[in-house]
Amino acid sequence: MNRTTSEHLYEEALQHIVGGVNSPSRSFKAVGGGAPVFMKRAGGSRFWDEDGNEYIDYLAAYGPIITGHAHPHITAAITQAAENGLLYGTPTQLEIKLAKMLKKAIPSMDKVRFVNSGTEAVMTTIRVARAYTKRSKIVKFAGCYHGHSDLVLVAAGSGPSTLGIPDSAGVPASIAQEVITVPFNDLDALREALDKWGGDVAAVMVEPIVGNFGMVMPQPGFLEGLCKQAHDNGSLVIYDEVITAFRFHYGSAQTYAGLSNHEDIIPDLTALGKIIGGGLPIGAYGGRKHVMEQVAPLGPAYQAGTMAGNPASISAGIACLEVLAAEGVYDEMERLAIRLTEGLQAAADGHGIPLTINRIRGAFSTHFCNHPVTNYDEAQDTDGELFASFFRHMLNRGINLAPSKYEAWFLTTAHTDADIDATLEAAEASFQAMAEE
Ligand code: PMP
Repeated sequence: MNRTTSEHLYEEALQHIVGGVNSPSRSFKAVGGGAPVFMKRAGGSRFWDEDGNEYIDYLAAYGPIITGHAHPHITAAITQAAENGLLYGTPTQLEIKLAKMLKKAIPSMDKVRFVNSGTEAVMTTIRVARAYTKRSKIVKFAGCYHGHSDLVLVAAGSGPSTLGIPDSAGVPASIAQEVITVPFNDLDALREALDKWGGDVAAVMVEPIVGNFGMVMPQPGFLEGLCKQAHDNGSLVIYDEVITAFRFHYGSAQTYAGLSNHEDIIPDLTALGKIIGGGLPIGAYGGRKHVMEQVAPLGPAYQAGTMAGNPASISAGIACLEVLAAEGVYDEMERLAIRLTEGLQAAADGHGIPLTINRIRGAFSTHFCNHPVTNYDEAQDTDGELFASFFRHMLNRGINLAPSKYEAWFLTTAHTDADIDATLEAAEASFQAMAEE
């Protein structure tokens, strides 16, 4: 596959944009280096690059594009918003509509505030939890990624792990020491941390279903135990549902039927992003009324944003949720994901390539190893070179994946059986080539 235009554009981008990319997870550093693909256009499940090559897309822009690219309902909503004026700096009725949709789907959010990214949403939940509890420390789980604010760039999965910098430079030790990291799915470790630091812990923060060192389910009882331990300790529970909200069903991980005992796993604060903006920049956070009343103008915890709640992002979010509310869309994404993962597993097995797949509904991760992946250590202990080889073979056969062994594949409402057939054909050829290498 000829990608000379991408190569030239990458050379040019390197002259002007640091690392040639505007988010490090887009670089190909972890998959052998070289030029990332410069895409020109996307529609439905497909991408076309600057050289005219076509790809089936499973990156879905790291999650937001759950209805496929350029979905007509979302495009129409954005067009209408643009025609009505992009930004007012005043409240609008649209914001109330999306807030009500979120609250209905995620009832633990009594009050909501819109921001512009998942990073902002998470960063603010931490500030609010600290304001409410008057404590300073946060417990997080190794390998979870919560955006790029100072406090959470400690043992961070996703891009930081991909690039080998889970503990970012530039975060002062005085801030890093406010974060306690424990392994995911390990209640004993959480107990030990709370025994040691208890009175200082403002919040325990978690991705309730992990999306940033692959897709990893909480083991039965883990979230229940986490909530109980945190609350017994006077700490708040923050769920980072930036990936998981509206990913598996019309709701979030905290309301997902795959997790039992909903009333025992209710967080105090939830951070959202990605899907709820339908492809435009957005974040949101919300939670219990008393906790949210810490936020200005009601309370002393300050958070603001010129672009927050802008009509285009809000309109795109509403339109996206309207598409997702239709009967059967999640079942169909899951049906395709089952076909795809069963086919991938059979093809890998057939060529003696070690592969563990973690699938939750229409999202899954591929780990090149022979063991289960239930925490960050197990996700790290997988074959990065095999992943890099698989990634490149698939790309050359027109399949676009995230360039990292830690990121998920996402099905969208635009994928079809024909896409799955073509992907499995590419996978069979890729595994065969890898077996011969
Ligand atoms: N939290 C989680 C769970 C995420 O996956 C991400 C982004 N991948 C973020 C927070 C940060 O979101 P954003 O990139 O919109 O700042």
